[in-house]
Amino acid sequence: MLEHTPTPVVERSALRINPAKTCQPIGAMYAAMGIHRCLPYSHGSQGCCSYHRSHLTRHFKEPVMAATSSFTEGASVFGGQPNLLQGLGTVFSAYDPDVVAITTTCLSETIGDDIPQIVGEAERQHLIPDGKYVIHANTPSYVGSHVTGFANMCTAMARYFATPITTKPRSTDRSRVNIVPGFVNPSDMREIRRLAEATGLAVTMFPDTSGVLDAPQTGHHEFYPAGGTTVEELRNLGRAKATLALGPWASRDAAVEVEQRADVPRELLDLPIGIAATDRFLQVLASRGGTIGSELEAERGRLVDLVVDAQQHFYGRKVAIFGDPDHVLSLTEFCRDLGMIPVHVLTGTPGKKFVKRAGEILGPAASAANIAADADLFTLHQWIKNEPVDLLLGTTYGKYIARAEDIPLVRVGWPVLDRYGQGLLPTLGYAGGVQLATRMLDALLDRRDRDAVEHEFELVL
Ligand code: SF4
Repeated sequence: MLEHTPTPVVERSALRINPAKTCQPIGAMYAAMGIHRCLPYSHGSQGCCSYHRSHLTRHFKEPVMAATSSFTEGASVFGGQPNLLQGLGTVFSAYDPDVVAITTTCLSETIGDDIPQIVGEAERQHLIPDGKYVIHANTPSYVGSHVTGFANMCTAMARYFATPITTKPRSTDRSRVNIVPGFVNPSDMREIRRLAEATGLAVTMFPDTSGVLDAPQTGHHEFYPAGGTTVEELRNLGRAKATLALGPWASRDAAVEVEQRADVPRELLDLPIGIAATDRFLQVLASRGGTIGSELEAERGRLVDLVVDAQQHFYGRKVAIFGDPDHVLSLTEFCRDLGMIPVHVLTGTPGKKFVKRAGEILGPAASAANIAADADLFTLHQWIKNEPVDLLLGTTYGKYIARAEDIPLVRVGWPVLDRYGQGLLPTLGYAGGVQLATRMLDALLDRRDRDAVEHEFELVL
């Protein structure tokens, strides 16, 4: 399918081919689903909303509910206020959410609809019942990516709900931290909470899609599954000793917002993928009053043991990594620590700091690597044609390159549309590191078995 990709790399400034990102509202919609009893609401055309919902459903294999203003030609010309007013009235009467989280689309942003003004009008018309909330994030898709949208909706949660808390904690209260987990799977959010609570700290995680997009099959459809951060928890963000933002692209702005509104200091960390990043995460929790017990040390030791056992298979293998910036940077560090050589490192999300941080992680090896932000998969394919790799790490969209160049692909990040269980198995933390390293190892060893000539086909590798 990609056999006509040319090898010579030509500088392009105005053309994207196979973008390594999707649009802002998708990320915002995913974040909104991490609020308990929240109905995401897309202010724009029905087509946008259908795309966002279906893309999320294809990754999580779960129903994704969302309402839409269903713009027609009239709304496109005269603005979407009547649609949003009618839509808010309908969703509160028909679906009874606690929170409606509005995201804008390219169209409503281009028209210039003023969402706070329209929501104010809805309040004047008593379309929002008492005790219910409407929050919003501006998510123009010609800026940033789905990661930007996720960050914007997390920031909106803090902006609408975080307030200073002046009452002192009781002596029996556990120390509390807020965690903004980044654009990760429900399984990863569950794992982040498990690790943090294992240190003895109380945790408010926002958003939290565990229990929402990995809800158990019970035979009954729950329109609002049991999971998600409650409004009460969001209103109490100010009780925490610190807000830990995991991944600067997805989480930093929300932590800054909590700091400014509720006077809670922020700590900015990489996504805890791999040994070193998970160590840093736990060390920060320890600095905030947590205790790293023997069970966590044993978990770490098991991952280290796997890495040591398989060192000869990882060492010196070239790898290409692409996807969301927070994921790619932490994966790059993990691959470096495995002894692999990340030769191509690429994200579709804009951000100048990406290249700098990737360079810091790779150290002297950075000069020989291709690193790019705001780039596309056409570029990645060309890089690989010029310098082949042993392994490709990234989303489902890499499968075309993997097929064209005959490279094993380990699917990680979002979206993974063509495999199951992505939302159930973590890749974060030490336990996630075992999962991830095992999958990478299996891919490399399967390939070695496949390519081995008869007399080198070994039972034990
Ligand atoms: S029009 Fe904009 S918001 Fe709608 S699907 Fe396309 S990029 Fe996303």
